[in-house]
Amino acid sequence: MELLKNRIALRWRRTKIVATLGPASSDRQMIEKLLRAGVDVVRLNMSHGTHEAHREVYANVRAVARKLDRHVGIFADLCGPKIRCGKFPEGPLKLLPGEEVIIDPRLDKGGPGLIASQYRAIARDVRAGHRILLDDGNLELKALAIEGERVRCKVVFGGLLKDHKGINLPDSKVSASSLPPKDIADAKFAIELGVDYLALSFVRTAKDVAGLRRLIARAGADTPIIAKIETPEAMENIDAIVQASDAIMVARGDLGIEMPAEQVPLIQRELIRLGRRHNRAVIVATQMLESMIDHSRPTRAEVGDVANAALTGADAVMLSAETASGKYPVRAVEMMDRVLREVEGYQWQQGSFLAGEPVTDNELDMRDGVANAAASLAHDLKLQGVIIPTQSGTTARVICSHRPTAPLVAVSTNEAVCRRLALNWGIVPMTASEAEYGKWDALCSRIAQRCDLTRTGHNVLLVAGFSDDPKRNAPLLQILRV
Ligand code: ATP
Ligand code: MG
Ligand code: MG
Repeated sequence: MELLKNRIALRWRRTKIVATLGPASSDRQMIEKLLRAGVDVVRLNMSHGTHEAHREVYANVRAVARKLDRHVGIFADLCGPKIRCGKFPEGPLKLLPGEEVIIDPRLDKGGPGLIASQYRAIARDVRAGHRILLDDGNLELKALAIEGERVRCKVVFGGLLKDHKGINLPDSKVSASSLPPKDIADAKFAIELGVDYLALSFVRTAKDVAGLRRLIARAGADTPIIAKIETPEAMENIDAIVQASDAIMVARGDLGIEMPAEQVPLIQRELIRLGRRHNRAVIVATQMLESMIDHSRPTRAEVGDVANAALTGADAVMLSAETASGKYPVRAVEMMDRVLREVEGYQWQQGSFLAGEPVTDNELDMRDGVANAAASLAHDLKLQGVIIPTQSGTTARVICSHRPTAPLVAVSTNEAVCRRLALNWGIVPMTASEAEYGKWDALCSRIAQRCDLTRTGHNVLLVAGFSDDPKRNAPLLQILRV
């Protein structure tokens, strides 16, 4: 237990925090509090709120980030073919076990005994006897009969159903297209705003990702894509999906409904491994501090969940309703930050952030070989930092996958690249001018000053010279005294 007695605090938290913004967190004051509390990346959920509201929140985040002189990433989360219920103008619908209720896809407002849903084909996809799960599976209905376009159901597990909660049909084959018209409009809107990532929900195959990629290209952008893994079909095609996307999200809410919940923890662990092998950031999402929506403290089990994500190497952990609509958005972020720091101090003392897992046993390609060497040097020489000039961000991501123990300062001339790197484990993004780029000695001493990596007698490592074109790779590893 010696390790637990000598607790240490690292200056930089390595695991990143993503926070969903919503009614509880849209104004500048609150956004500033959240960013100061440690949010690295914010999420705008296109399933809720209007374009106007999202535009305003987007501008607020950019303004606060500028004020704080930070590179904060913003991503827009597209609804995907998620089926949702409509509104309940008279307040949340109370569903009692045994009661009958109708789902009507022609309406957008529900009421007593009536749930509206925008998904027109629900009566075609559902058969009598199928389960219909509501609100991330908290409520359950059973289909009794199909009546034209409507479905008559019986409540199995009741509760309160609020506006726009999700509907899952785990027994039915859902025929909805992977990029519904709303997503196309939302994606165009978000690209125009200038978001740093687009997240695609309910990805089923790599083709879904390619479809969004084409839309982005047609809009003249190169916005990277986060594939949300939340269906059994995605798990069947997971290698191709990971390679087709730029980052992945373990969207445990829907994943745990569409698949047996007990499989989710190991799926999460395997997805984290797979992401690292392909240099893709992995976000662990949903219910991380769920009880903090209403309470000022999380359950101990939730704390364990956040700690486990960090221990197993997640790049980022995400808050949903905790920050979007909960009562304690700032406390939730502070709590997450403390849990992550506690774990990381322990990992650092143990001498590794890799949880005992080598990246791969196979022969490494040049970049991975150099990154591996950089990680060894960082550890063996107790380097103060690794400085990584990176144009597209790829070099920084490759090095990050090897989880060096020293902080990773990624330097790019491109601000968008810096904001994207805010999502990746351990990376501190910094901008440099074109004039500085290539003059590594001068750049490193400025960065070392700026980041306070200047304890005398300690060294930093510069890793440069990678190119996305393997023929132009000329890696340079240089140890610099600061
Ligand atoms: P998803 O499947 O995309 O996660 P969700 O409905 O679970 O959808 P979250 O982003 O996880 O949505 O947020 C949880 C809850 O927070 C939502 O159900 C909603 O009540 C609220 N919320 C989130 N963003 C907004 C917003 N922009 N406006 C209003 N409410 C929001
Ligand atoms: Mg979801
Ligand atoms: Mg959710």
